[in-house]
Amino acid sequence: MNSIPGNPDLSFDLEKIRADFPILSRKVHNKPLVYFDNAATTQKPQVVIDTLVEYYSGMNSNVHRGVHYLSVEATSAFEGAREKVRAFVNASSTEEIIFTRGCTEAINLIANSWGGDNINSGDEILISAIEHHSNLVPWQMLCEVRHAKLIVCPVLADGSIDLEVLAGLMSSKTRLLAITHISNTLGTINPVKEITKLAHEKGIVVLIDGAQAMSHLKVNVRDIGCDFYTFSAHKVYGPMGIGGLYGKKDILTAMRPYQGGGEMIKNVTFEKTTFNDLPYKFEAGTPNVSGALGFGAALDYISRIGLDRISAWENELLRYATERFSADPLIKIIGNAPQKSSLISFLIGNIHPYDAGTIIDQFGIAVRTGTHCTQPLMNSLGIPGTIRASFAFYNTKEEIDRLMEAIVKVEELFL
Ligand code: PLP
Repeated sequence: MNSIPGNPDLSFDLEKIRADFPILSRKVHNKPLVYFDNAATTQKPQVVIDTLVEYYSGMNSNVHRGVHYLSVEATSAFEGAREKVRAFVNASSTEEIIFTRGCTEAINLIANSWGGDNINSGDEILISAIEHHSNLVPWQMLCEVRHAKLIVCPVLADGSIDLEVLAGLMSSKTRLLAITHISNTLGTINPVKEITKLAHEKGIVVLIDGAQAMSHLKVNVRDIGCDFYTFSAHKVYGPMGIGGLYGKKDILTAMRPYQGGGEMIKNVTFEKTTFNDLPYKFEAGTPNVSGALGFGAALDYISRIGLDRISAWENELLRYATERFSADPLIKIIGNAPQKSSLISFLIGNIHPYDAGTIIDQFGIAVRTGTHCTQPLMNSLGIPGTIRASFAFYNTKEEIDRLMEAIVKVEELFL
């Protein structure tokens, strides 16, 4: 059992959980793998892997198109997965859940479809300085085409956002606020409900990039009140190549389709096409059926464990790692927001992150090194990048100890 100080009710059998993830028993460089790159992608429990295999070995068929048994079965499983996503984020209806290739495609869908109709010359789109390129570049591209302006809210030294500064940047020209729920680089958890309220008071549409949040904390889109919320399955223990977006029904209804093709139509003549109802209007072509089923299986899996248990252990890992890192005067932690998710970005003396990461890898430890798709943030911090250790609920304190041993080795070699 893991131990949650002050809250034993939230503990769980860590060894049993680890056994659910086959990859965690593999060796790298002849050492047991320590996987600390969970912010890039999470590992998959056997039940998700089994779901993919079972789909292709027993159910494979195209959805929404056939009256034959397999097609009906696959359609029902696919729509069942949509319902699981709906329930997980507490959307009102499955019409508000659109499957995409992932969070990036979800944001691009909104930029193209909603943005194409709602952003005009002179308008402003507001983002923060800690956005992933996925929640920056699509808006930059849209601004260029529509002659709009991208406004960037700076962050405080600890990586958090000053809400007064953010509110001050919301002008009568601001049409959209696109902001991350959790920073993949600094771990900052933004107060998205409060932020949404501030924006809505000024009539601004709000998109929350939830790529990092769904695996760590309970997401409730109706409570947040945002207009759009985007996510990727592979960051929540599900397969790659599937994710999606939540959008408020009235906004989605008013939006034009993103792509044309099969599935998204009701009636087609050479002269004119009428579009399908929600959510299919935004899902042109054959969807990633196995991925959706795997996504559903992943959400079931973490729901069985419970997000309260998951976040309690991840917070404990963060506390432990922060304590150990802080005891080493050569380590500089980048990002100390009071509300922080279970990742630590850091530098060791003046050692380049790539050099450090290469040595750490030799210990069988997977950490991320580089700019983490937040190049402008790194530029503003005046650093070439960071080393990032991002924890999931299957990680252990012993693994953090092993990372510390590797860091000491890096220090011996380079300093
Ligand atoms: N937004 C954030 C905060 C992320 O961390 C990521 C991926 O790292 C993305 C968006 C993009 O997600 P994906 O690459 O799965 O589309």
